[in-house]
This record gives sequence, structure tokens and C-alpha cells, in this order.
Amino acid sequence: MKGYKYLFIKTFIPFVLGFLIIGITSFLSLNQMYVEYQHIRTQEIIHNIKSIYNNKLNDNNRIYKELLINVQNNPDISKVFLQKDRDKLYSVTKDLYKRLNDNFGITHFYFHGLDKKVFLRVHNPKKHSDLLNRFTLNNSMKTKKDSFGVEFGISHNLTSRFVSPYYIDNKLVGYLELGEDIDYLTPYLSNILNAEVLIAIKKELLNFKDEKIKKSLNKKINTYVETNNFYIVNSTIQYINKDLINLIDGYLNLESTQEKARSKYQIGVIKLFDIEKNEVGKIIALTNLEENQISLEKCQLFLSGFLFVIGIIIISIYYFFLDKTTKQLEKSTKSIIKLSKIDQLTNLYNRRHFNKQLPIELQKSIRNENYVSFIMIDIDSFKLYNDNYGHLKGDLVLEKVSKVLLNSLKRSSDIAFRMGGEEFSIFITEEGNKISAPIIAQKIIDKIYNLNIKHKYSQNSKNITVSMGVCTKKATQDLKIETLYKEADIALYEAKNSGKNKVVIYDKKTTHK
Ligand code: GH3
Ligand code: MG
Ligand code: MG
Repeated sequence: MKGYKYLFIKTFIPFVLGFLIIGITSFLSLNQMYVEYQHIRTQEIIHNIKSIYNNKLNDNNRIYKELLINVQNNPDISKVFLQKDRDKLYSVTKDLYKRLNDNFGITHFYFHGLDKKVFLRVHNPKKHSDLLNRFTLNNSMKTKKDSFGVEFGISHNLTSRFVSPYYIDNKLVGYLELGEDIDYLTPYLSNILNAEVLIAIKKELLNFKDEKIKKSLNKKINTYVETNNFYIVNSTIQYINKDLINLIDGYLNLESTQEKARSKYQIGVIKLFDIEKNEVGKIIALTNLEENQISLEKCQLFLSGFLFVIGIIIISIYYFFLDKTTKQLEKSTKSIIKLSKIDQLTNLYNRRHFNKQLPIELQKSIRNENYVSFIMIDIDSFKLYNDNYGHLKGDLVLEKVSKVLLNSLKRSSDIAFRMGGEEFSIFITEEGNKISAPIIAQKIIDKIYNLNIKHKYSQNSKNITVSMGVCTKKATQDLKIETLYKEADIALYEAKNSGKNKVVIYDKKTTHK
């Protein structure tokens, strides 16, 4: 049943397609969720870095202020400072600096004179008396107040600085300064936030003009990774490869989304400003997408496994039921088709099937150049039988006669029909020149008579009998079913007129019209 195959495909394919669409959509949604998640995570990291960075600076300022008040109030320090004894000042402050370094991470401790010259660097006592021109110091000199903020050091340290005017007995004697290199913040931030963090400083800010500075700068720069526009002064990524360098330059200059898309990192940038509000560099937070990619792949693997198993189960159930339904449908259609061509009472093919099937049978015979015979059969005096024995008994007669017809046909190519009422026909495909129809017809006549169905009211016999008209023709292209029908009918008419219960073979010359 071809139609059902199509029905099966028509319902099964959309079902599988639907399932595939659900699968693909789940995959894409999962991907999209990950992209969103990465974005949110990066935003969160940036927010956290900003807060941590600002908190750190605020904490520094509060602590430095407190520490410098203590320095100011220390009489030993005041005494040696007033004496302008650098060595003594160093010896009374070096332990204090060590403690500050150990406990607060302070890396710079200055005593400045009123002349802007460095009187003592407790963190580097050999270097002194140089003129400093830094904003924090200048600002404090100008305002006679505390001045603090992030600023570059002379050899390019990104330093959080706090400068305070130094009063002894209410007299301004100089300036005190504490500072902390904050490049180290990267591993600290990285640890807290579980992201890669690097600090990049603008190249253009470096001052190579001063020969002395240049030397110490070059030493430092050797430890930096260089991009086109930046020095990466501190990074938690061990190996900064070319891609990442390009990414940093590209992103920072072009904000190129293409670069972003190719990257294995999601990147977030925080601009760094010094106390003068100059942009000095950036903190760059990188979340490694590859790590999450692995989780995504795991999720996808799980999802595909899950969808596969569920898919197989659903498809099998669907297939099983659809197959069952299709088979049931096939069965019932077959029985409907059978019902439409079979006569209910007699189980013989009906007139409808006769009209459909006979042209096909005739064409077969034409191709095979067979003879064909057509027999018309009519029960004799049947109206009288019905009238006298009743319709139900009449039906029984029709059934019995039909059985005789069916049992008399041996070859599958011989077909019996109920043409309507008590009229039947048989189509016979003859084999070669041997014409079997008259013999078959005569056998039927005899068998029916021998059924011995009593019919007292028959005009020609004491039993139920039939009359038959037979015609035989060579099957040729111009042979029409109407011709067979007409000639067999003429022969039957002849049989009726000549006493019934007999077979008349149509003969053009002898059979009366
Ligand atoms: P003849 O010998 O000339 O053929 O006479 P007849 O009475 O057999 O022919 P007629 O055509 O006059 O009557 C046919 C009767 O067949 C009429 C009707 O009562 C009966 N008949 C037709 N179909 C059925 C049927 O399905 N069941 C029964 N019981 N009788 C039927
Ligand atoms: Mg009749
Ligand atoms: Mg009749």
C-alpha cells in the first residue's frame, strides 16, 4: 500500500524534523546563555576591580595619614631632622620603615626639604638631594595640606602616594611622604576574582630624556612585555603571546569587535588615572573563555546524550505506534475495498467490479491472443418462487446457486459475477483452441438441477433450474464487452424461449434475435 508509506513518511519526517529543531535550538540557547554569562561575568569582574582598587587607595590614604601623624609626633625624629643630620635620621627611621614595609606594604618613605629637594629616602638612603617635581609634593607645598593619589615615580613606578606638610612646634619644616607601588595589585585582584589581570601603562608616559632615569628605566622595561602602545608592567598570565598582545593593542585602540570575537578571552578594561586626572594606563581583566568552553562542551555533550536517548525512545514509541496504526489502517482499507466489490448475499463479485475488472481481463486476453467466453445465467421462474416460498427462501436459493457457480470454476482467470437480481455471469479465458465454456455451463445446469431445490410453481421443472446463454470470441482489439454481453444475452433469451433449464450457444446464423 504505497499511500500508507507516504502517510508514514509524511508524519514521521516532520516529527523527526521537529525533534531536530528542538535539539538545535537547545544547543544554540545554551551557547547564547554562555555568551551572556561571560559578558555578565566580565562586567562583574570590572565592577569588583574598580571597587577593590578604590577601596585599596582609600585605605592607603587613611593609614598613611595616621602613620605620618605618628612620625610628626615622634620627638627623636623631629630632633635629628631639625639637626639636618641625614645619617642619624636614617638610623632612627630605618626600623620604622622596615615595619611599615612588612606590615603595610609601604615601599617609599621620604623626608622632603622646603626647597623641593629630597632630604632622605629611607627606602633608598644613598640617593638624596635631588629635586623632585611631582604633583603630590607640589600640591602639598602649594596648599600646605595633605595631598594624595596615584602617581608615577621617578623610575616609572605606579605608586599610591601621600604627602603631608611636616610641622615641628607649629613650624613648617619640610614634607613627609609615604608611598606604595601598586603594580602588585594584579596577582591580588586575580586571586580574588578568579580572572587574569594585567596592568598596562602607556608607553608615551615614560621619560627617557634624563640619562640617569633612562638607565634604571631600561632595566625595568626589560622585565615588561611590550605591545605597540603599552608596557605590560604586571600580569598574571605567564606567557603573553602575540594574539594577546594584538588583542590588547587592537581592543584598546580600535575596540574591534572582530578581534574580540576571535579571542579566547573575554576582555574588560578599566582606565587608570593619576592624581592629575591623566590617563596613565589600564587594568585589563581577562576571563579565559576556554575554561568555560570546556564546561560548555561538557554541557553540550550531556545535552546531546540526553536528547539522543530521549529521541531514540520517543522515535521508537512513535515508530511503533505509527507502524501499528498504519498496518491497521491498511487492513481496514483492504476490507473496505473488498466490501466494495463483493456482493454481500452471494459472496460473488458485484456489478461494480464487473464494470471495472472486465476491461482489464479482456486486455490481458487480447495481449495473449486467447479466446474468451462469456456466460449469462438467469434463474428460471424465480419470481414465482419468491412469490410462493417467500423472499428469505429466495435468498437461500441465490446463495446456493452462487456456490455452485464458484465451485464450478477451476482456473483463477475464470470469474463469476452477480449482475443483479437472479442474474449472474461468468467470464472465461480459454486456453488455446479448446473452448471449455459450453462444458462448464452444462455442468452448472446439471449441478443446479441436482441441488434438488423444490419449485412446485416452476413453468418448466419441479426443481429450481437456470438458463444460460454462452458466447465465445477471439479476443481482438475491436472486441467490445458490449458485444459479448449482447450476444450472450441473445443466447440466454433463446434458452428461455426454448424451454429453459438449458444452455444455448450463440451462433450468428442460428440464434434468433
Ligand atoms: P424467467 O424464468 O423468465 O427468468 O422469470 P423470472 O420470474 O425468473 O424473471 P423476472 O425477471 O420476472 O423475476 C425476477 C425476480 O427475482 C423478481 C424478484 O422477485 C426476484 N429477485 C430479484 N432480486 C432478488 C433478491 O435479491 N432476493 C430474492 N429473494 N429475490 C430477488
Ligand atoms: Mg431475470
Ligand atoms: Mg429469471
